Amino acid sequence: MTNQYAKLNISKKKSTDYIDFRSDTVTLPTEEMFQAMVGAKLGDDVYGEDREANELQVYTAELLGKEAALFFPTGTQSNLSAILSHCQRGDEVLIGREYHTNVYEAHGASVLGGVGICTIDTNHRGSVCVKDMLAQIKADDPHFGITKLLCLENTVSGRVQPQEEINELSDAAHARGLKVHLDGARLFNAHIHSGLSLKDLCYSLDSISICLSKGLGAPAGSLLVGDIDTIRKAKRLRKILGGGMRQVGVLAACGMYALQNNVTRLQNDHDNARRLTQGLSKCKGLQVGIDEAQTNMTFFHCPQEHREGMQAFLLENNILVHSLSSASRLVCHLDITKADVDFTVQVFQHYFNNK
Ligand SMILES: *Cc1c(COP(=O)(O)O)cnc(C)c1O
Repeated sequence: MTNQYAKLNISKKKSTDYIDFRSDTVTLPTEEMFQAMVGAKLGDDVYGEDREANELQVYTAELLGKEAALFFPTGTQSNLSAILSHCQRGDEVLIGREYHTNVYEAHGASVLGGVGICTIDTNHRGSVCVKDMLAQIKADDPHFGITKLLCLENTVSGRVQPQEEINELSDAAHARGLKVHLDGARLFNAHIHSGLSLKDLCYSLDSISICLSKGLGAPAGSLLVGDIDTIRKAKRLRKILGGGMRQVGVLAACGMYALQNNVTRLQNDHDNARRLTQGLSKCKGLQVGIDEAQTNMTFFHCPQEHREGMQAFLLENNILVHSLSSASRLVCHLDITKADVDFTVQVFQHYFNNK
């Protein structure tokens, strides 16, 4: 696999000079969000005295229909703390092969927790099937690790997981004594797309990690949500991992602002991604994944011979994308407007018209 963050030479300009499709993590706080930071009621969160963090945790737990929540600096630390709350050394987690926690979190659960990772193939929608999951639960035999946890994800690369499948997987895992954790970095996109309540999306799960720093537009922050016992364990793990922060309310206030103001507007990003998908599908040289564009992402296959030329042409036009490939991904977010999408489609069309 190639370097995810191969640097582009963009140092001469401000990030706001670009239409940046690399990820929904690139958004900058709006003026209103900065105001929320300024007004934050701060305290030392390691002493449990930061009112913004406390309020955000209570608010988020309630929103997802669980007992408790804990603020984390990143989704990676939140997922890792969840796994280590549910598992001991020598235990094993089952996880979809393509899921972020398996591919992009540097195997923290194995490195730091001695937890084995058993991957399960996913289908075209990014789902794990119940039969494959059950087949990987190990018998009580000293040859094997002890299967303790199933890790799911929603959305998976922008694809919303059918809720019946999530519930079926959870029920089947629970029946075998496993816990179930969901990496819900983009759970709010699933909520907007499916029309299901956050409580319904989380009902069958033991713990959920959500990101404030993706489509919701906060500068940093994630929350782990679950039962009181799991969150209590996760709090010790967060401290071990160096995630016990002090006046963290400056970030929590952004998170609260994001949850109260930036959830329903995710529909704009979904609409923009669809518009982009439709626009790009008219470019003769591209194969565009029409079915994959459910939420805020557009996927296309960029033929090998066009990758370098197109990337350079996009950059000339102040459009930033990750290196183009057979599975190129463009992500829509708060800082991308409908006009930006229309301009981008024109740039793509211009490139192919001049080939
Ligand atoms: C972004 C993301 C995470 C967490 O990433 P951090 O950069 O550590 O906050 C986890 N899972 C998925 C699917 C993500 O997209």
